[in-house]
Amino acid sequence: MTDLALHGGTPVRGEPWPAWPPPLDDAQRRLLLEVAQSGRWGATQGPHCGRLAERFAALCGTPHAVALGNGTLALFVALKALGVRPGDEVIVPAYTFVACATSVVLAGAVPVVVDVDPSHLHLDPAAVEAAITPRTTALMPVHLAGSPADMTALLRLAHEHGLAVVEDCAQAHGALYDGRSVGGLGDAGTFSFQSSKAMTAGEGGLVVCRDPEVYQRLWSLCNVGRRIGGAWYEHPEVGWNLRLTELQAALLLPWLDRLDTEIDRREAFAARVTALLEEADIGASVVPQPPGTTRDSRHLLMIRFDRPLTTDEAGFVVEAASAEGVPLDNGYPPLGELAAVRKSGARVEPYPHAAEASRQVFWLRQQIMMADPAEAADVVAALSKVLTALRTWPR
Ligand SMILES: *Cc1c(COP(=O)(O)O)cnc(C)c1O
Repeated sequence: MTDLALHGGTPVRGEPWPAWPPPLDDAQRRLLLEVAQSGRWGATQGPHCGRLAERFAALCGTPHAVALGNGTLALFVALKALGVRPGDEVIVPAYTFVACATSVVLAGAVPVVVDVDPSHLHLDPAAVEAAITPRTTALMPVHLAGSPADMTALLRLAHEHGLAVVEDCAQAHGALYDGRSVGGLGDAGTFSFQSSKAMTAGEGGLVVCRDPEVYQRLWSLCNVGRRIGGAWYEHPEVGWNLRLTELQAALLLPWLDRLDTEIDRREAFAARVTALLEEADIGASVVPQPPGTTRDSRHLLMIRFDRPLTTDEAGFVVEAASAEGVPLDNGYPPLGELAAVRKSGARVEPYPHAAEASRQVFWLRQQIMMADPAEAADVVAALSKVLTALRTWPR
């Protein structure tokens, strides 16, 4: 027996963690009410979706942006606007959310699932290079957990092989690579405002880009094939209504003003967990960032155990940590093992590092990092109890 809360012991923590999303602030409440009362709820009627796009473009240092329904559609339209066609191959990382593959499928192309770097778990440039064929037309680096992918190496490969680069920034609002905002490094950058993200309106998405023609295609794809400045019922291209609503933009616009403060708060908490884990030497450490990270937006804190766990052991860790009052997430299974990805006709390259990560890495979600850094001690105390019990588990 142990002193685990799971076994009837006293939990490390009784207090709840900060809620996600955070409570509405005054600016959100005012703008939401203003939009609701105006009756101009659609993006073709009001200015806020356009303003949100402008502010994101400024944030990312790109001239253009389009707001739309979600992050999956953002990846899809970015691929389409950059000229990815049916039969093309698009390289995606093996440790990421399913949408990275299914957005490629939606564009009629073939996802090529490539392994991640064993240290930081972002797309591995060497594995990317080995997977490039004459049919490869695009790369999709994911800025996983809030830290930017190894963009210098990936952009060099893209340049050498003439590939388009779509940065998936769904987890990295406000992150910086070498002092520059993610999203503005490749040909297009996509964001998500789904409920679990660092800025949310329940759902939502956005694409930023530099090239004016790419922008026109993006805009048209999201606006039923219309042309910017064209006649309302002209529809020169095939496109869909993928627009965000003004009510969602009213939640997101004021959020941009507090994003930096929230990132700083999560950074302080993450730094404390990292230091305490090093000190405690209990067999768990924070996954390091790729080279070039100058600001991690700290969407998730990835914590690596010092050995791979079985499925049963991982289940025990999640249950025991939750009982201690410190919820942990088991993280992604390797992308290439999902039935959806196998059925899609994806090409899956060997993925030993993604497989290892799926058995060895747990996530601490962003709302926990919104707590006072002093409370980081609870995370380490809970991990310490769970890791001690794991040594003799299942006894
Ligand atoms: C959330 C997420 C997406 C998809 O965004 P949705 O808005 O949920 O469609 C894509 N990629 C990554 C890495 C994500 O975390």
